[in-house]
Amino acid sequence: MTDSIETTKLGASAADIAEAGQRLAGGELVAFPTETVYGLGADATNDHAVARIFEAKGRPSFNPLIAHVPNLASAEMLCTFNEDARRLADAFWPGALTLVLPLKPNTQISSLVTAGGNSLALRIPESTTAQGILQAAGKPIAAPSANPSGRISATTAAHVFAGLNGRIDAIIDDGPCPVGVESTIIGFDNGATLLRAGGIPVEALESCLGKVLQTPEKNAPLSSPGQLASHYAPNARVRLNATEARTGEFLIGFGDIAGDETLSATANLLEAAANLFRVLHIADAVGKPIAVAPIPHTGLGLAINDRLNRAAAPRDS
Ligand code: AMP
Ligand code: MG
Repeated sequence: MTDSIETTKLGASAADIAEAGQRLAGGELVAFPTETVYGLGADATNDHAVARIFEAKGRPSFNPLIAHVPNLASAEMLCTFNEDARRLADAFWPGALTLVLPLKPNTQISSLVTAGGNSLALRIPESTTAQGILQAAGKPIAAPSANPSGRISATTAAHVFAGLNGRIDAIIDDGPCPVGVESTIIGFDNGATLLRAGGIPVEALESCLGKVLQTPEKNAPLSSPGQLASHYAPNARVRLNATEARTGEFLIGFGDIAGDETLSATANLLEAAANLFRVLHIADAVGKPIAVAPIPHTGLGLAINDRLNRAAAPRDS
């Protein structure tokens, strides 16, 4: 864990919202209310800022995050919409609905937000405070629930403060969240599929689409947490705790072990997290077996090692 930082309490005045937007654009972590729950926001295009989300929450794994944008035009710059997605967006955005959609190329979205995959979870919140912050930030904002990992979501600023004081830069307090549960998440990999129940009832979505939603169990063999197909794993074989490259291997370094690429030459776990998926993709593109230097199992090292262990686990075929 990094040293405690000062967490500034802000209200929801125009000046405070402008400040929150500026802080987010500058790479800071700012918790803010949406109509569902309080989100812990960071610039979704800034690897370092997004890595700080995982650090602040103490998340032991890199789950993909929902990116928040103020309007459909911004959403369409990031993702491709099919007919069903467009219909749901027209009917329920802004609101408590998240759509997981194919990410367009060259969007600058941090690979930590998509867990290295090529789909992005997108939401347009309705809360005027959240809208103001997104407009002021001028960037897509990654925001998981603003609670320490494993604890329940925060629906008041006091909950956020109790859980994250000293770990984030600022909190916008605009009272309790009206919906109080997370957004409903719909994916489209094999037809419109309910990935998480939430603030918009399934019946409303189904009546909008004129059909029944699929469930992940029906069409995805990989339904256990963190095993979503959207999570990236390299094609090459991966060997962990390598202190040097064996013949023919591509070595990913850390600290004193330099490697062909490094996660962090200074053994900084925040930097290593920020670089993780980018460096894995580089190594994968080379096409050699991959070896990875040991990563300390503390702080963000837990999430990094979780991802590396999955990459190194034996696979079918
Ligand atoms: P939270 O971080 O608490 O807001 O929860 C976000 C939820 O969205 C998690 O259940 C993620 O697994 C899900 N999610 C985010 N991005 C994606 C994605 N690209 N594909 C599938 N699920 C996603
Ligand atoms: Mg959560």
